[in-house]
Amino acid sequence: MRYISLGSGSKGNATLLEHQGRSLLIDCGFSRKTLLQRIESAQADAGQLEAVLVTHEHGDHAKGVMAVCELLDIPLYCSQGTAIHMGWIDHPRWQPLTGGDLASVAGMSVAAVTVPHDAREPLQFVVEAAGLKVGVLSDLGSLTPHVVAAYQGCHGLQLEANHDPDMLRKGPYPPRLQARVAGPYGHLSNAQCAELIQRIDWPGVQHLTAGHISEKNNHPDLVGQALAVIPGLSDRPVRLLAQNRVADWCEF
Ligand SMILES: [Zn+2]
Ligand SMILES: [Zn+2]
Repeated sequence: MRYISLGSGSKGNATLLEHQGRSLLIDCGFSRKTLLQRIESAQADAGQLEAVLVTHEHGDHAKGVMAVCELLDIPLYCSQGTAIHMGWIDHPRWQPLTGGDLASVAGMSVAAVTVPHDAREPLQFVVEAAGLKVGVLSDLGSLTPHVVAAYQGCHGLQLEANHDPDMLRKGPYPPRLQARVAGPYGHLSNAQCAELIQRIDWPGVQHLTAGHISEKNNHPDLVGQALAVIPGLSDRPVRLLAQNRVADWCEF
């Protein structure tokens, strides 16, 4: 099993997971063209893609989903709330998922996890294959006991480190938007990301990446500083994801 971020941030997110020559995509906040280019630069095969899982309706996650599904003739999975918002509720490609569901997609087992975020019915996903668990967690405003429990035991973790509270406060966002981002249904700060890692880290974690890093309200150095306080993590550095760059594969 292996996985890769094809881009991460407020202008678009997509993560590709592969197992035994079959793959699934979590989110497509890019245009169809950009997504296909990025799959190619990852030296992966779009023809192996069997489904897209959609976390929620925000454009940086859902924008290109239907175009990609139409092109490749594959289904999309998301919550009813997301489907209603996107106008997919009667669409034959839509496969409903509810928080707590387990679904088999592209030969992998997908657990849908309910998260606190300001969308209609947001989900995040833990994907398991061949005894290996990968947790992808991008948009949430706070660390609920439910989320912390759902991401225990993962061998690969792709988490959110969205903002530095000081930069957010001094940055260009109007007060209302600042309050939204920092609020319990917004996005995780660097310190919250560090806390999450400490609450779910265990010796079996082989890959740790942090993404959805704000270009206006954060800086990679600040993410690094916030995560450097985590005891025992120095020999397993957290790799940072970027908006305009395909990351390295995380392989098991
Ligand atoms: Zn969002
Ligand atoms: Zn987002």
